[in-house]
Amino acid sequence: MLEQPGAPVARSGALGQDGKVTPEPDSATVDATPSDQLREEYAQLAEEIRAHRIAYYQDAAPTVSDAEFDALFRRLEELEALHPELVSNDSPTQEVGGEVSAAFTPVDHLARMYSLEDVFSLDELRAWLDRASAGVEQRSPGARVSWLTELKIDGLAVNLLYRKGELVRAATRGDGVTGEDITHNVLTIASIPRHLAGSDHPQEVEVRGEVFFPTKEFGQLNERMVAAGKAPFANPRNAAAGSLRQKDPAMTAERPLDMYVHGIGARTGLAAETQSETYDLLKAWGLPTSPYYKVLQTQDEILDYIAHFGEHRHDLLHEIDGIVIKVDSFALQRALGHTSRVPRWSVAYKYPPEEVNTKLLDILVNVGRTGRVTPFGLMEPVKVAGSTVGMATLHNQEVVKAKGVMIGDIVVLRKAGDVIPEIVGPVLALRDKQDPPVREFVMPTECPSCGTPLQPAKEGDVDIRCPNARSCPSQLRERVFHLAGRGAFDIEALGYEAAIALTQPAEPAIPPITTEAEIFDLTPEKLADVKIERDKKVKGVVTGRELVPYFYSRGTAKKPSEPSATTRKLFTELEKAKKQPLWRVLVALSIRHVGPTASRALATAFGSMERIRTASEEELANVDGVGPTIAAALKEWFAEDWHREIVDRWAAAGVRMEDEVDESAPRTLEGLTIVVTGSLQRYNRDEAKEAIITRGGKASGSVSKNTSYVVAGENAGTKLEKAEALGIPVLDEDGFIALLQNGQASDGGPAT
Ligand code: NAD
Repeated sequence: MLEQPGAPVARSGALGQDGKVTPEPDSATVDATPSDQLREEYAQLAEEIRAHRIAYYQDAAPTVSDAEFDALFRRLEELEALHPELVSNDSPTQEVGGEVSAAFTPVDHLARMYSLEDVFSLDELRAWLDRASAGVEQRSPGARVSWLTELKIDGLAVNLLYRKGELVRAATRGDGVTGEDITHNVLTIASIPRHLAGSDHPQEVEVRGEVFFPTKEFGQLNERMVAAGKAPFANPRNAAAGSLRQKDPAMTAERPLDMYVHGIGARTGLAAETQSETYDLLKAWGLPTSPYYKVLQTQDEILDYIAHFGEHRHDLLHEIDGIVIKVDSFALQRALGHTSRVPRWSVAYKYPPEEVNTKLLDILVNVGRTGRVTPFGLMEPVKVAGSTVGMATLHNQEVVKAKGVMIGDIVVLRKAGDVIPEIVGPVLALRDKQDPPVREFVMPTECPSCGTPLQPAKEGDVDIRCPNARSCPSQLRERVFHLAGRGAFDIEALGYEAAIALTQPAEPAIPPITTEAEIFDLTPEKLADVKIERDKKVKGVVTGRELVPYFYSRGTAKKPSEPSATTRKLFTELEKAKKQPLWRVLVALSIRHVGPTASRALATAFGSMERIRTASEEELANVDGVGPTIAAALKEWFAEDWHREIVDRWAAAGVRMEDEVDESAPRTLEGLTIVVTGSLQRYNRDEAKEAIITRGGKASGSVSKNTSYVVAGENAGTKLEKAEALGIPVLDEDGFIALLQNGQASDGGPAT
C-alpha cells in the first residue's frame, strides 16, 4: 500500500536563466491538454495533500506516514511538470505547508520562512549539487561554493525575533508569511535566551531554529501520557509540536524541549558574509547551535557526512530525518534566490523512513521456549528502514491495551536502525473507516498450541504461560530451535523451519521427535516423509497453506530415494555437536536463566554434568557468575524426571558430558581477568574465551577496574576506549598469544 520515497517518480530539473528549477518533463509523455480524468486526479490529489497538511501541522495528528505524504507530493509535482497549466498559486507545491490555528494569535514574519526541496537518493543529490553549482557559475563566474552541511532535525521550525539583544517575539513557521505567536511557550525553553549574551547585538534579527523533543525523554513522556489515559505521541516531532503549541505555557514548561538554530531571516546591523560565520556570532550570544554542522567543499565530503550520520543517527540528542546542504555564502544565496516554497540554495537529503503506516491484519500469540505466551501483530508487509516487516511483538496483553491498538487498525510501525520493529499505536482518525470494522484483541485462555489452560507464572504476573512444558508442541519447537543455536550445539542445518518440520510437520501425523531427548536418535528414515505447511508471510507460525516437503525433495510428488543435502548436512552436524564442550550442552538444555556465561562458569567449576547435577544448591550458588537464582533454577530443572531423561539419552547417544581437562595447557592465567574485543585473526570469540579459561583465567565480557588485560582485535569499539580511559593494559593478538604461553612477566606486565 505504501510507495517508498525515491521510487515512484524520477525527478529531474534544470536551473533556468531566471534561476528557477524547472522540472524537465519526459517529452514522450507530455500531453498538451490534460484529460478530464487527469484534471480530476490532480484536483483530488491537491485536496488530499491539503487535508494531510492540516492534520500534520495544525492537529499534530497525521493520518499518513511522511513517506506516504512525500510520495503523494511527488506525484503532484510530476503532474505539474507534465502539465504546467495545472499549476495555480494555491497549489501545495507553491505554498509553505503550515496552517495557522485559530487558537493562537497570528503574527507576520519580517522575512518569509521557507520549506526545503527534498531529494531521496544520492543520485538526485549529486544532480542537485551540479545544478546549483552551475547556477552559481552562471551568476558569479569563478565563484567557489562552500556547502554548509547540517543535520535535518525532526522538530518544529520557530522564528525568534531579537531587537537589540532582547527576545521580543517567537512564532511558528505557519504558512511562511504568517505564523502563530508562541512567545510565552518559547520562553519556557531553557536553552533559548531571553537576553542575548555579549555585546554588539544587531538592531534586529530573526533567528530561525528547530525546536525538538530529546529522544531519550520521549519514551518517558509517552509512558506518562498512557498512564494519564491519554494517547501517546507517535514520534518526538509530534511531541515537540504538541508541547510547543500548548495554550497554557505551564504545560510547555513541563516538557524538556530544546532547540538548535539553523538560519536567520530579516536582519539589520548584522555583519556576516556567510551562514556559518553567523552561527559563530549566534553561538557567542548564547544561542544554541548544533555541534555537528560542517562547511564542506566537495561532493565526496558531503556524501561521507551523509553516510556517517546515516550510521549514527540514533546516537544523537534528537531525531533527524535527513541532512540539509546549503550554499554558505549569503551573496550566493541571494543570487540563487527562492521559489514561492523553497530556497534554491538549499536542499534536504532524506534518509529512508523509519516510520510507516500499515494495516494490522491480526494479533496472534506465540508460545515461547519457556511457555511464555506473547501476542504479536501480523501486518500488511511494509518496507521500513531498509527491510520488509510483517510482524512485531506486542509483548503482553497490558502492552496491547496501553498502545490502544485494535485488529484492523491502521498502525504506525517504527523500526529505528537495527532495533526490532515496534508498533507505536493506531491512527485513530482512520479507525472508523476500516472495513471490516476493527475488533478488540482477546488474549486466549488456552494454549493455542496444546489447549492447556494458560496461567500466570506467579500470582500478579502480567506474562502468562502455558504450563505444559513437556509436551506443548510450540515450546518443544522453540527449545529444539534453541539447542541448535550458535551459542549451544551450533547446528546450522537445524534452523527454524527444520525445527517446525521435526516437531510439528504437516505429514506424517507423528512428528519425528516428541521430545528433544530424541534429537540424537534421529535417522534419515525418520525424516523421509517429513513435510511442513507454512505461511510464508508468518515466519515461525504454522498456519497451513503451502505444502513444502522439508527434508527430502522440494516440490516433487514422488518420494526420492536419497536424502536432501539439508538432511545430510544435519546428520554431519549432529555428529559434530556430540563433541561440543560441556558449557554448550548446558546452554542447549533450556534451563531458565542459564545462558552462556553461567554455563561456562558451571562447566569450569564442576567439569562434568554429573557433578553439576549432584551439587547442592549452596555449592552451585557459590560459583562466581552463578548465584542463588540460577542455582535454584538448576535444582528445579534437574528435579524433573523428563529433564534428566534428556541428559541421559543425549549421553547414551554419545554427547560429551564431561570436559576433558587439558592437562597440557599450562595454568598461565590463574588470577587474571581478560576481556577480548574486536575480531582476532586466529581465534573466534569462543575459542579465545576457551583458551583463557583452560589456562585458569577468567574471560569477562565487560571492562572494569578489575580487568587485568584487554585484548583488542580489529574494529574494537567502546571496550577499548574504556580500557584506555581506565589505564588497563591493552594487548594485540600477538601479545595475547604470548600471554597465553607465558602468563604475566615477572615485572607484572604482559610477556611480549
Ligand atoms: P521539511 O520538514 O521537509 O523541511 C523544511 C523544514 O525542515 C524547515 O522548515 C525546518 O523546520 C526543518 N529543518 C530541520 N533542520 C533544518 C536545518 N538544519 N536547516 C533548515 N531547515 C531545517 O518540510 P516541511 O514543508 O516542513 O514539511 C514537509 C515534510 O513534512 C514532508 O516531507 C513530510 O515528511 C512531512 N509532512 C507529513 C505530513 C503527513 O501527513 N504525514 C503532512 C505534511 C508534511
